[in-house]
Amino acid sequence: MRRGNQERENYLDLLERLKTYFPAPVSNQIMDGYFIHTVSHFLDRVDDLKSAAPILGRGREQHYHAIMEEAFPEEMTSVEEVTKLLVSYCQGMPIWGHPNAQVNVIPPSTIPSITAVIAAAIYNPNIIWNAYSGHFAEAEIKAVAMLSDLVGYDSHRAGGLFTFGGTGTILYGCKLALEKLFDGKVMEEGLREDVKIVASDTSHYSRLNVAGWLGLGMKNLVTIPTTRDNEMNLTDLEDYLRQAFSQGEKVAAIIATLGTTDAFGIDDLSAIVRLRDHLAEEYNLSRPPHVHADAVIGWVWAVFRDYDFEANPLGFHARTLRSLQDSLKMMGSLALADSIGVDFHKTGYAPYISSAFLVKDRQDLTLLSREPEQMPYLYHFGDYHPGIYTLECSRGAGGALAAYANIRLLGKQGFRILIGHVVEMAEMLRERLENHPAIQVLNDFNYGPVTLFRVYPDGVDAEQALPRELSDPSYREEVERHNDYNFRIFRIIQERAMQGEGVWLSRTDAYRYADYDGEPGPPIAALKSFILSPWTNLTAVDTVARQVLEAREQVDGK
Ligand SMILES: *Cc1c(COP(=O)(O)O)cnc(C)c1O
Repeated sequence: MRRGNQERENYLDLLERLKTYFPAPVSNQIMDGYFIHTVSHFLDRVDDLKSAAPILGRGREQHYHAIMEEAFPEEMTSVEEVTKLLVSYCQGMPIWGHPNAQVNVIPPSTIPSITAVIAAAIYNPNIIWNAYSGHFAEAEIKAVAMLSDLVGYDSHRAGGLFTFGGTGTILYGCKLALEKLFDGKVMEEGLREDVKIVASDTSHYSRLNVAGWLGLGMKNLVTIPTTRDNEMNLTDLEDYLRQAFSQGEKVAAIIATLGTTDAFGIDDLSAIVRLRDHLAEEYNLSRPPHVHADAVIGWVWAVFRDYDFEANPLGFHARTLRSLQDSLKMMGSLALADSIGVDFHKTGYAPYISSAFLVKDRQDLTLLSREPEQMPYLYHFGDYHPGIYTLECSRGAGGALAAYANIRLLGKQGFRILIGHVVEMAEMLRERLENHPAIQVLNDFNYGPVTLFRVYPDGVDAEQALPRELSDPSYREEVERHNDYNFRIFRIIQERAMQGEGVWLSRTDAYRYADYDGEPGPPIAALKSFILSPWTNLTAVDTVARQVLEAREQVDGK
């Protein structure tokens, strides 16, 4: 019946209905009211999904096979129906800002950063060119300038852009490195020989993607072992570089990780740059390796560069101050890097995706332009055309505007409070875990918002077990047994957290690998607490310590 009617309906009548699916292009308060009502209705319905648990509604069993056969619908539906659908897709979403969520390096978003993304969604700017993005383009330039100022780059020389994630920042860094090595010829002629990229073995796996996708090949990725502090071993780096340079091997880039994803390990950037400069002179290199700082997590610690640690006006605890200062000692030298990656969707409290790639010398970006004779930075003529050198053609402005919004909203002060708080909470957690003989904190020299720890069964001396696990081949079976033990504890904690009882943690299968005299041994799994929420408090911290012990008793069958 309905179908028959619809077939006879003139498209122009349907078009009238269809127009109500869009925000009105001219001032129309009734339609604006409808738009706001839709969003507000959505928020109300999502609110109904909230409970004591750090998740919206219930996680549902996924039956991906069935949905893979979903057919393309025949008819239009309505804004209301689709809104209802959208609400249902929020089911099972972790609430990152929940005091009982300590899952990963995923922040809750601030209201202005969300508004920025909404603004970009409504007006749909494309920052390929200022003509298509109005003042949104300015937000990108300003955010880049303010970040350059934060890390200590000379803003008369520095530049940068927003891109598709931390992976994108590493891709830009390595691409620039390649072009610098070959005078910008790779763009035109392609890569014709083996070229190496160097990173530590606890650096992010996106290095593999970058090596693969840039056509360098993953086999040309050189991984340098890390120390127990999860920091690139400088002796190994030097050994490798000397061997490479003396054999005439080409090294395009060294990626220094400032804040590894699992353990918050921080490479000694200034030592790496010194080593690069020293060897460049010694081996007479005309094109020394480009140093890219993968600071997608750690960049925000730069807000403490001019914090008065003596007077400590924000009143952080002594343990927190020590931790912040220790991180800063490593992180304060960011400006020495030739390029830097910054993620606002990690420690910048903005929605995905908001990633900035900064370069010390913006002239370098010329090497990426398809028309190299054209200068990429043409601000003087009122024109901004980053599309000349960006990989992306369509460039959404939400990420840049969200970053800009948070910088303006929070300033150094706000970021100091946020980061100071989450580090303080992590310190409190570590204090509690360290006090228990069956628990070993694994990243005890890496002070950040993340705590990796491992739980041991009764009868095992945890303090003695861990060093053996890391180095003793005859202890391999125990490593595997303890990995399984930790996994079972994790599952109990996970189940309870989903019932609204306790804190949701995560785990890592391999916080690092055992090292059997240079041979990689089995992975060492760990439980992981990543605190980023301003709502995390001492109650949540106490809960973690308590629930780990309760889960342990359950696994032990007590
Ligand atoms: C997350 C992460 C990346 C990758 O960033 P995406 O934004 O996820 O693409 C790279 N390096 C480190 C250290 C990371 O933690």
